[in-house]
Amino acid sequence: GADLALYRAKADGRGNFQFFAREMDTRMQARRRLEQDLRLAVRTGQFELYYQPLMESGAGLSGFEALLRWNHPERGLISPTEFIPLAEEVGLISAIGRWAMQRACADAASWPSNLKVAVNLSPLQFRPGLAAEVAEALQACGLPASRLELEITESVLLQDDDAVLAILHRIRALGVRIAMDDFGTGYSSLGYLRRFPFDKIKIDQSFVRGMTEQADCLAIVRAVIGLGRSLGIAIHAEGVETAAQHQALLREGCDELQGYLFSRPRPASEIAGMVQRLGIGILPGQHEEPASR
Ligand code: C2E
Ligand code: MG
Ligand code: MG
Ligand code: MG
Repeated sequence: GADLALYRAKADGRGNFQFFAREMDTRMQARRRLEQDLRLAVRTGQFELYYQPLMESGAGLSGFEALLRWNHPERGLISPTEFIPLAEEVGLISAIGRWAMQRACADAASWPSNLKVAVNLSPLQFRPGLAAEVAEALQACGLPASRLELEITESVLLQDDDAVLAILHRIRALGVRIAMDDFGTGYSSLGYLRRFPFDKIKIDQSFVRGMTEQADCLAIVRAVIGLGRSLGIAIHAEGVETAAQHQALLREGCDELQGYLFSRPRPASEIAGMVQRLGIGILPGQHEEPASR
């Protein structure tokens, strides 16, 4: 990569600047190609939504989070962490985000009526027409607003913009729930929790991952759960991978869980199978029979 090129350029002196420049040029070209591919992907519909179960503590499956995938014709499945930042940079995120919202609502409309769908929003989707877009997506497939949850990150509120708050309030007035995603990372400020009445806080995976080994992670998870309880905000833990994390989160009183322990994100065609496996009110780790003595 560029770091290696830079290292070589430094180690070998000026002669290697050309090598470094060539390397940069290669990366720029790769990025330009990916941008062209992304434009084509928007036009020809190369995106797909995968779904990951949301598990309500003690109650079982409560819905699914929609997670974007790009089926690249040559490169195969591309992760959103790779193409969403690019889509944001080149102005394609609104089109992609609108598609994802419509697709997710339409998919959810065919699920059992007690299951909701959670959709991620980019900060760049916060334009004046957003609330109308949400209302339209619901109307188009007849999904009740109460079955849609939108996930935003703290960066949405960074702008300290009354217009953003107004949009959030308009969406919430439709009956759609708003969750704060990746809580505890980035520019966390507890002040955000006063500026908007969030329905849910999703504790970031990094804290969940560390909570069974590191006292500081456990302390943070415990504090966020306490905060949620006093403010009347539901607390969700993402990135639950082990039975030990699962047990610890139940013990701490976490309201909702999500992670590879229950299921990885899967294509829409596998919803029925996941509902069958998880939707019976039994959480993994709880179905072992007590050992007979
Ligand atoms: P996110 O919204 O925080 O979604 C959770 C991410 O964690 C997903 O990655 C999911 O696959 C992953 N994950 C879930 N459980 C586990 C676990 O137990 N262990 C580990 N290691 N990972 C787990 P994914 O699907 O790659 O998505 C990454 C991010 O891309 C999302 O983070 C979200 O910020 C963004 N994204 C995905 N879909 C959309 C979309 O439709 N619109 C926008 N704006 N962003 C999206
Ligand atoms: Mg999310
Ligand atoms: Mg998250
Ligand atoms: Mg994330």
